[in-house]
Amino acid sequence: MTTEFHAPDAIVDGVEIGEILDGQIPDGDPRTAWERRRLGYKLVNPANRRKFRVIVIGTGLAGAGAAAALGELGYDVHAFTYHDAPRRAHSVAAQGGINAARARKVDNDSVDRFVIDTVKGGDFRGREADAFRLGEESVRVIDHLAAIGAPFAREYGGQLATRSFGGVQVSRTYYTRGQTGQQLQIASAQALLRQVDAGTVTLRTRHEMLDLVVEDGRAQGVVVRNLLTGEISAHTAHAVVLATGGYGNVFYFSTLAKNSNASAAWRAVQRGALLASPSFIQFHPTALPVSSRWQSKTILMSESLRNDGRIWVPAKADDTRAPGDIPEDERDYYLERKYPAFGNLTPRDVASRNAHEQIQAGRGVGPLKNSVYLDFRDAIKRVGKKKIAERYGNLFEMYTHATGEDPYTEPMRIAPGAHFTMGGLWSDYDQMTSVPGLFVGGEAGWGYHGANRLGANSLLSACVDGWFTLPYSVPSYLAPLLGTSRLADDAPVVTEAVDRAEARVAKLLAIQGEHGPTYFHRELGDILYEGCGVVRTKESLTTAIEKIRALSARFWTELRVLGDDDRLNQELEKAGRVADYLELAELMCIDALDREESCGAHFRAEHEADGEALRDDNLWAFVSAWGVPGDGRFVRHAEPLNFDAVPLTRRNYK
Ligand SMILES: Cc1cc2nc3c(=O)[nH]c(=O)nc-3n(C[C@H](O)[C@H](O)[C@H](O)COP(=O)(O)OP(=O)(O)OC[C@H]3O[C@@H](n4cnc5c(N)ncnc54)[C@H](O)[C@@H]3O)c2cc1C
Repeated sequence: MTTEFHAPDAIVDGVEIGEILDGQIPDGDPRTAWERRRLGYKLVNPANRRKFRVIVIGTGLAGAGAAAALGELGYDVHAFTYHDAPRRAHSVAAQGGINAARARKVDNDSVDRFVIDTVKGGDFRGREADAFRLGEESVRVIDHLAAIGAPFAREYGGQLATRSFGGVQVSRTYYTRGQTGQQLQIASAQALLRQVDAGTVTLRTRHEMLDLVVEDGRAQGVVVRNLLTGEISAHTAHAVVLATGGYGNVFYFSTLAKNSNASAAWRAVQRGALLASPSFIQFHPTALPVSSRWQSKTILMSESLRNDGRIWVPAKADDTRAPGDIPEDERDYYLERKYPAFGNLTPRDVASRNAHEQIQAGRGVGPLKNSVYLDFRDAIKRVGKKKIAERYGNLFEMYTHATGEDPYTEPMRIAPGAHFTMGGLWSDYDQMTSVPGLFVGGEAGWGYHGANRLGANSLLSACVDGWFTLPYSVPSYLAPLLGTSRLADDAPVVTEAVDRAEARVAKLLAIQGEHGPTYFHRELGDILYEGCGVVRTKESLTTAIEKIRALSARFWTELRVLGDDDRLNQELEKAGRVADYLELAELMCIDALDREESCGAHFRAEHEADGEALRDDNLWAFVSAWGVPGDGRFVRHAEPLNFDAVPLTRRNYK
């Protein structure tokens, strides 16, 4: 049902109201939208495909899939990654599993139920039609990944095994122990290397994209820096795909790989692309608590552990007894108590917010009182240690390595940690951004997950984008360009972009202040956790914006980058990334301050009912997609969200 849309007034300084965006969703029943759109896509004759060059930035699950599929189809693909090998992409870290609505368990699962769970899990701030595509293609994704070599866990009889993840009551998560991402990434990277070997994909590792080239209103190339030699060069193409992952590392302490960063997406925003819902950040409830300010990152324990682990805190505050000394009636299994229907498998936003609440109330555990227990005592009693080791052995081992504690005999300690970015480059239903010819896939995009992603839906969205969406939609964009040549490598816009990238590197090196980039990154993380974290308020966000602006000013006068720009220099790489984080962080806080409602992981303390997020569908049932034209201006464009198959209701996991 489409209603007339009016964007709410801007009340934040610097915010202007922009346009109403068209997501290009096929009219009619969202259940059949994808099938109809695919039929409508234009095709390119196999003999003409090699005349089109497509640049793919990123070789994670989304980028490797897109590059391998487009290469297999016969396009001239040029893939770039800052890693030394495609298989090192951050997707390799994913643990718990990948969802698919294949209904093999006779537990009443279906594509429709997948869509209901995904849309509701995202608190109605994602695109319903995209969720249908995700569910529909999920069935093919599992077969495809198994075919290219992913060794999914199997039942005794040979069927692929599944387990449950948060926010659902069925068992639709396919997995390989706690190493699902690793196995999927290895399979996808191998598929990509097969194309490299076949000559359809030219792969450049250790190359970092620093800028996007836009000419005649179309994305036509990129500027990259060779991280080993420092050489900056431009590459032109008929289309560019960004599959550059999420920006959760802006928080400094996050579960992401240390190198994951926002620079490619942020540079696209500076060249005219829009950034959707930048403040929709997922805090994962089963991260390990920060134990020292000087540690370099946070470690994740997979959500799959919540299938068997029970989350609890001591019932009274400041209880310093060892967990084993706290009797049953003095423990509070708060998720089971408050959400009996979903128990420990509530969606992540709900689980994180509740943990935050317990910690704030003084019931946190551990030396810094900043965590809650995840306890396997009862599961071990029920199914035995051997079974638990089979299910989660490598995660338990990882926990022991990280903490020195044995989770078979004492409960794990977990805490909310910055993890996944639901926000990302705004794109239409075809995954094309607001810059024609610039496509996005995987966590760098925004569409599927609304204000809160369900566990195991991200590996899925990266694979669906990479293998089964971009290989259809990119050719449809290219078809009418047949006969047009690629932008010349020495076109003025190209040399200007190279000059701009070189000047920026020189500027970072020239400051010669007193602090390295990590100092500023850590400060920024503190500001964000405090001001734009699990719970946000008008006051916390206003303060955060002021602090970020002050830190940014200091960055450009007090930064010190050691070394030169003509060889490997990781401090220089980091400095560029932190400069981008500072700008992005300001926009995240602006977005969170602007959106006067709570939804999913965006929890504004001013908008709650019984401790749950209180949406305002009258005013805010749309996606904010931000343009950043400079001069301190932020333009909020809006794509209204319509829900035809899943009626707008208040979420209830009780
Ligand atoms: C610890 C952990 C566990 C997780 N477990 C699960 C799970 O069990 N299930 C699930 O569904 N999701 C999980 N996720 C989320 C999921 O892993 C990611 O969302 C997903 O893998 C992202 O894939 P991607 O292809 O979009 O990006 P990535 O895998 O992050 O790949 C990004 C690629 O872009 C390249 N790149 C980035 N910027 C540039 C640049 N400027 N120039 C050149 N190259 C660039 C990188 O080199 C890399 O190749 C987990 C996340 C974490 C952190």
